[in-house]
Amino acid sequence: MKTLLPTSTAGSLPKPAWLAQPETLWSPWKLQDEELAEGKRDALRVSLHDQQRAGIDIVSDGEQTRQHFVTTFIEHLSGVDFEQREIVKIRDRYDASVPSVVGPVAREKPVFVEDAKFLRQQTDQPIKWALPGPMTMVDTLFDGHYKSREKLAWEFAKILNQEARDLAAAGVDIIQFDEPAFNVFFDEVNDWGIAALEKAIEGVACETGVHICYGYGIKANTDWKKTLGSEWRQYEEIFPKLQASNIDIVSLECQNSHVPMELIELIRGKKVMVGAIDVATNTIETPEEVAATLRKALKFVDADKLYPCTNCGMTPLSRQVAQGKLKALSAGAAIVREELAR
Ligand SMILES: [Zn+2]
Repeated sequence: MKTLLPTSTAGSLPKPAWLAQPETLWSPWKLQDEELAEGKRDALRVSLHDQQRAGIDIVSDGEQTRQHFVTTFIEHLSGVDFEQREIVKIRDRYDASVPSVVGPVAREKPVFVEDAKFLRQQTDQPIKWALPGPMTMVDTLFDGHYKSREKLAWEFAKILNQEARDLAAAGVDIIQFDEPAFNVFFDEVNDWGIAALEKAIEGVACETGVHICYGYGIKANTDWKKTLGSEWRQYEEIFPKLQASNIDIVSLECQNSHVPMELIELIRGKKVMVGAIDVATNTIETPEEVAATLRKALKFVDADKLYPCTNCGMTPLSRQVAQGKLKALSAGAAIVREELAR
């Protein structure tokens, strides 16, 4: 990456209203069959264009082809029954009706590889592709087969590894694994979560990252955040082991969060995607606010390893707000880039 402080987003961006109900998670599609396939590709193009207009350096598909960052991937696997649903508590926080693992899980064919090839055809900019992490996948299912979170995570890691290798071959520059569950199950993260993540990135011929956040700006998450007290030290539990892992990039929530910035020191040496945009509010940050967050982070991350980013995905926001936030991110990064060049 030649540009200093290259900007990117954590992942999802709002979908157009003709494709899915706006500002809604798990929003049903408004098109069907071939029209849906074409609509998704068109939405991907619009999302890419929006990112480019906002000056984002590392672009993505905006997750326009998926209903949800975890379930859409799982839908493509065998061994999971979407009819047989159970209520589970996701991330120890909220109840959700989820599909069941009923047999050995396997990837019969590539999941996002055609979408990634399509994005690759649209731009010469570096592209980032998000996949769910093994632990977060396990946490979004009912397991009636393996009856072991660790065993199931290991099977998912093998599947993710196949997908990641294919995505890298399709020209993806950075593959990011979304692991919000890393912020909740510390013992499991250290016992097997990071090992499963390393299995998922084994032999992958591009850069790899892990995104660890406090979730979308939905009520269950904002209520949970209120219980975390004035200092959020969750990252402290897992950073030492993450620092020693093979993962290249760590994507974190920083803006408006109560995470003490000095915790980033614990992953010194890694590239850090610093969340400088709060996705849980409609208030658009000023470029100066973004710059202030980045300056704070620079005390703990070398400038050549700092990647300004959003705290999390922006799919629950309006397109107008999301676009404003992307522009603020670019403008804030430009301020600090100029300061560094002096
Ligand atoms: Zn997130």
